[in-house]
Amino acid sequence: VYFLTMQRFEYVKDFEQPDVLLPNTWIVVRIDGRGFHKLSDHYAFVKPNDRRALDLMNAAAVEVMKELPDLCIAYGVSDEYSFVFHPSCQLFERRSAKLVTTIVSTFTAHYIYLWSTYFPSKPLQPPYLPSFDGRAVIYPSTRLLRDYMSWRQVDCHINNLYNTTFWTMVQQGGLSNTDAEQELKGTVSADKNEILFKRFGINYNNEEEIYKKGSVLYRQYELEEPKQKPAAQDEVSPPEAKQSRSQQDKLKKLRRKAQVIVDHIDIIKDDFWERRPWIIS
Ligand code: ATP
Ligand code: ATP
Ligand code: MG
Ligand code: MG
Ligand code: MG
Ligand code: MG
Ligand code: MG
Repeated sequence: VYFLTMQRFEYVKDFEQPDVLLPNTWIVVRIDGRGFHKLSDHYAFVKPNDRRALDLMNAAAVEVMKELPDLCIAYGVSDEYSFVFHPSCQLFERRSAKLVTTIVSTFTAHYIYLWSTYFPSKPLQPPYLPSFDGRAVIYPSTRLLRDYMSWRQVDCHINNLYNTTFWTMVQQGGLSNTDAEQELKGTVSADKNEILFKRFGINYNNEEEIYKKGSVLYRQYELEEPKQKPAAQDEVSPPEAKQSRSQQDKLKKLRRKAQVIVDHIDIIKDDFWERRPWIIS
């Protein structure tokens, strides 16, 4: 009877839409906090940059990197994080929904689990519970991936310069939110730098790197034997499509063991990528 029941109902499976992402392309899963403007008000995040909140985002992202060795780099700013899967990634047969939901829920689980470490005096309470949305986008060339990463870091810079100026005018200059907003309307970067410097003696360049550049996560490879020469680049590069199964397994193991680094560094210029060729080779 059970067997017949299956036969009769199984056709509903055919209503599922295929969502396999194009092979051999970079996959970026970007997640973003839902309603974090309100959430940050409720838990009284420091404006414009609450260091605890950023450290918590980074800590959750590190755990995601540790759980998913197919990820080669991640970039975070504010309430968002971009996770990058290598073109050779075959996780979940590259099904978009599977990849996105796994990243979103793994990240959210760790974010909530770690919350009390970063906000010990502010327990989470409904309805102010953190949740995240997510999407997957494919980039068919390394140039396009690099431009995507640059886009996010430029966005970080522009927003941070604006927010730093706005909140300095409000907190130190005594302006109302409306007046500060009005005065900043139509200003370019040079104007904001000048307001900060001339009126408040603040050199924007001296602001903390984590606020100006966001956070970059990647794996740091080091040979275990301290006496050996540093690993040659091709020894540690991620699996290529052509590599054999055992080679791939070996590299996967290496990735799993590698330490995940949290850095606040320029990823727009070539320097970052040229010095760490294993990240996107
Ligand atoms: P949506 O659900 O559409 O994403 P949102 O309220 O989350 O809405 P975002 O554009 O994602 O809007 O902006 C996130 C907001 O969260 C920021 O504008 C800022 O107010 C707040 N925020 C996030 N991280 C921090 C932080 N580390 N320190 C202070 N405020 C933060
Ligand atoms: P995948 O990651 O592919 O989903 P999986 O191990 O989660 O792998 P599922 O097909 O989703 O496999 O099956 C979930 C399994 O979890 C069940 O087969 C069962 O072993 C276990 N499980 C789930 N809920 C319960 C429960 N309430 N009591 C006992 N076992 C459970
Ligand atoms: Mg959003
Ligand atoms: Mg948001
Ligand atoms: Mg956001
Ligand atoms: Mg199941
Ligand atoms: Mg399951």
